Amino acid sequence: MANSKYAYVRNYELPDPLLPGCFLICRLDGHSFHRFSEEHGFTKPNDERALKLMDHAAMDVMTEYKDIVLAFGESDEFSFLLRRSTNLYNRRQAKILTTLTSYFTSCYVFHWSKYFPDTSMRYPPSFDGRIVLYPDERSVRDYFSWRQADTHINNLYNTAFWALVKQGGKTTSEAHATLRGTVSAMKQEILFQRFNINYNDISPRFKKGSVLVRVIPSERSTGEKKKRARTRTEVLHCDIIGDEFWMARSFILAG
Ligand code: ATP
Ligand code: ATP
Ligand code: MG
Ligand code: MG
Ligand code: MG
Ligand code: MG
Repeated sequence: MANSKYAYVRNYELPDPLLPGCFLICRLDGHSFHRFSEEHGFTKPNDERALKLMDHAAMDVMTEYKDIVLAFGESDEFSFLLRRSTNLYNRRQAKILTTLTSYFTSCYVFHWSKYFPDTSMRYPPSFDGRIVLYPDERSVRDYFSWRQADTHINNLYNTAFWALVKQGGKTTSEAHATLRGTVSAMKQEILFQRFNINYNDISPRFKKGSVLVRVIPSERSTGEKKKRARTRTEVLHCDIIGDEFWMARSFILAG
């Protein structure tokens, strides 16, 4: 066989299985979105169109990959939780990571014009990705708490920062200097005293991020109906740090 002479190169491809019995979390993050958001005129601090486009792309990923049981998004990033017993692509790391990343990216570009009808894409965006294994429920919960706490911290900072710049007439370096070393309560006070912004009134989407989760089938539905409900996904902007969200959805961590 003509080809057998070359086939040995295949042996250089090494297996890359992900440890069994662990939860997989795949986190994607926009590459240089500081620049991308500026070049495409994103509203600061939060462009709602851009966030909804991220949600849409993530929703498509969940529709395509049924082993994703939860997704959380903020800013230019999304985290996807795959159930711990998933056998997707035989748990091959590169295969899972590259297909999820490229599918998400394609969907982002595919739906762009729905959310930015008046802004043409000036150059193709890209996303980086990583998969981290978590061995137990506690670490998965803590992972999502970590991301949602990050959402809140960044949003409070950015809200105060852009109020100082846009309404307060400060330069960006003056605004950074004003906020340096301030704790949460002080930032909320600046927003309220100087700009009459009550942080509590800010959209939950901005404060909590986006939580994509399969719909809980109603008590009464059975069989086929139950199955269909479970395959629908909803977008929430709720707390996922406390127990309530998880207690109502024990299927997420069940296996
Ligand atoms: P890296 O390639 O290292 O991720 P980055 O420029 O993407 O670099 P991030 O830390 O990921 O840096 O931050 C993303 C940045 O993108 C935010 O700081 C913000 O400036 C911008 N951005 C992302 N989403 C939005 C949005 N919905 N509205 C406004 N700005 C956004
Ligand atoms: P996997 O997801 O495992 O890669 P696959 O269906 O993509 O599955 P490949 O072994 O990568 O399988 O083969 C790609 C297939 O796509 C080819 O067998 C062929 O049927 C089709 N294909 C790709 N490019 C072309 C092309 N330019 N013209 C016609 N068919 C093509
Ligand atoms: Mg990054
Ligand atoms: Mg980024
Ligand atoms: Mg980011
Ligand atoms: Mg192929």
